[in-house]
Amino acid sequence: MRLIDWGDGWHVSELCFGVLPMGPLQKDLDPKRGAEVLLEAFRRGVNFIDTAQSYKTYPHIRKALDRWDEDEPIYIASKSNAQTREDMRLAVDEALDQLGRDHIDIMHLHAARVDVDVFDVRKGALDYLRECRDRGIVKRIGISTHSAPVVARAAEETDIDVVYPIINRGGLGILSGDRSDMEQAIAKCRRAGKKLYAMKVYGGGSFLGDRRGALEYARSVEGIDVVSIGMVHEDEVAVNVDLFNGEEVDEALWDATAGGERKKLHILWLCTSCGTCLEHCPNEALSLGDDRCVVDRERCILCGYCAPHCPEFAIRMV
Ligand code: SF4
Ligand code: SF4
Repeated sequence: MRLIDWGDGWHVSELCFGVLPMGPLQKDLDPKRGAEVLLEAFRRGVNFIDTAQSYKTYPHIRKALDRWDEDEPIYIASKSNAQTREDMRLAVDEALDQLGRDHIDIMHLHAARVDVDVFDVRKGALDYLRECRDRGIVKRIGISTHSAPVVARAAEETDIDVVYPIINRGGLGILSGDRSDMEQAIAKCRRAGKKLYAMKVYGGGSFLGDRRGALEYARSVEGIDVVSIGMVHEDEVAVNVDLFNGEEVDEALWDATAGGERKKLHILWLCTSCGTCLEHCPNEALSLGDDRCVVDRERCILCGYCAPHCPEFAIRMV
């Protein structure tokens, strides 16, 4: 696995392991089982994990780290929706405690669906992250977002070291702009010296049938040298590592992982049309229909962010 020089002695794997799908928002793997998948990735040279406070996957990562006895470092990026200093303090403490580490490599403002005033609105949270960086308990500060203007704005923010934008060949999930706008914003960040890694390059499963093409596109974007991919099984790890390494991919594994994990979001009859979930979809994929909430499948990237906010447990991903 190729390692990318991110400065300050960091060498991160070109493939970043996205753990969202293994957590309770999606596949809900037992932490011990999740750790086994992570360890397989570590053995294959993947040393970069992307998680978030809301993904509830710190236990999975902790179990993998506890069993990883090699000297190679494992870099962990997390994120928090915290707006205030106090909430970010709690988020950082939670990550340190549950991961069993004395520092977090990257802590992002988790800001999928925000406007360019995010750096003012979340000033308290950002100030606290800056203090943490000064104290060495957060090494780098980042922002993860689906918004093209926010990525462009991040290029001008001196406090932001790392940017984690959504980008894929179909432009799925990009807010306030299209693929071209996001490409330009990413290039602007690169020129400003930010480190960037890409999310949702398979479009939430839409491009699983042509992973090579999807990956080729992501790697061609100026400024993207690391790509995050969600995985829940050793077979997916094997296929993706082989793809990244430019090696022959096992056909049987390719077929087994090309669509088997694809799901759809369903709104059950339990829905009372309260509208709560609409506020939590970063892609404006939900709206109120005649008798229940409806999903726009063209916009839904199966992130699972909406489901925990439904008071009726009416949102299922199957
Ligand atoms: S509808 Fe739910 S799963 Fe689909 S993009 Fe929106 S938040 Fe994510
Ligand atoms: S939060 Fe649940 S009950 Fe409310 S509109 Fe969404 S799916 Fe329906």
